[in-house]
Amino acid sequence: MKMCIACGMPMTAIADYPLHDMSKNYCKHCAHSDGTMKSFDEKWHEVTLKYANNHNIDYGVAKETAYTILKKLPAWKRRW
Ligand SMILES: [Zn+2]
Repeated sequence: MKMCIACGMPMTAIADYPLHDMSKNYCKHCAHSDGTMKSFDEKWHEVTLKYANNHNIDYGVAKETAYTILKKLPAWKRRW
């Protein structure tokens, strides 16, 4: 089973892949509508908002938490 390199989501079904392309290492949530991978800043923003909303925490705290989470993922480890 593959794991999305950009968000860590397990990709168990073909529907989890961008444009149903199983050669990709990232999931549909981390892809643009044309199938290319989103940038770190885009994911950072998304995860920050998700955290702030889901856990009802301060935006600044959510931003730091999101950064820590994303930094552990293979897609962002080296560059950032
Ligand atoms: Zn993903």
